Amino acid sequence: MRIFDPHIHMTSRTTDDYERMAAAGVRAVVEPAFWLGQPRTSAASFTDYFDSLIGWEPFRAGQFGVRHHATVALNPKEANDPRCRPVLDLLPRYLDKDAVVAVGEIGYDSMTPEEDEAFAAQLALAVAYDLPALVHTPHRDKARGVERTLAVVTESGIDPGRVVVDHLNEVTVKLVRDTGCWLGFSIYPDTKMTPSRMVELLREYGTERMLVNSAADWGRSDPLLTRATGEAMLLAGFSDDDVDQVLWRNPVEFYGQSGRLDLTDLDVAAVDPQTGNSILRGGS
Ligand SMILES: [Zn+2]
Repeated sequence: MRIFDPHIHMTSRTTDDYERMAAAGVRAVVEPAFWLGQPRTSAASFTDYFDSLIGWEPFRAGQFGVRHHATVALNPKEANDPRCRPVLDLLPRYLDKDAVVAVGEIGYDSMTPEEDEAFAAQLALAVAYDLPALVHTPHRDKARGVERTLAVVTESGIDPGRVVVDHLNEVTVKLVRDTGCWLGFSIYPDTKMTPSRMVELLREYGTERMLVNSAADWGRSDPLLTRATGEAMLLAGFSDDDVDQVLWRNPVEFYGQSGRLDLTDLDVAAVDPQTGNSILRGGS
């Protein structure tokens, strides 16, 4: 089983995690820029963080045979802090980097006017830099948050096929499935979504445009829940090819739209088992 975790915060994980992930089949990850728990007090802290996401962390991942790419953004929570807003002016410098495959995490936390502004501005950056966008949805008032998210995405003019709306559940999936956006699901030990609930959603909605991530961070989370979801799919009667689509080809296709996904020299099959085409670059 080859696995691409499309949303995981490795900065907050140990080398033991990299070792266990590699043993479980994780060959590639995307690490979105996010809130670090401790509020940052200036834009300069973001500079160091972004540099680490495209420098140190890929190096660390590489030692375990895991390919690491990043997304950068001013996250929704810190969009409310005037000390952090100047980050918006720093982003273009990073959106030019090869290691950056999307703008994210953007979206809503508490749905404030400040978040509205930062969200729209960063969707405009995604359009300007021809990059996909990773959109976080709020944990409180979820359905209203997703509705408002989709309205802002539509208004921005970005191609919905270049947007993943993340942290969905049984209720919010219904709002996103017909919009053309990709559907992201974070599998957590005891909140958000579990492997068995994910399998039910895959049964109901199919495997197209579905992205499964561990969203592992410094909270209670588990970087091996992507693998656990693959195993639950097999037990439920999905084929190896279905698992490969959800856990590998879908994230490759989504982030491949950046034109920057580099999966060369990885220990994975280089051809699509269905079409026989090379899929390493993915997307269009
Ligand atoms: Zn996250």
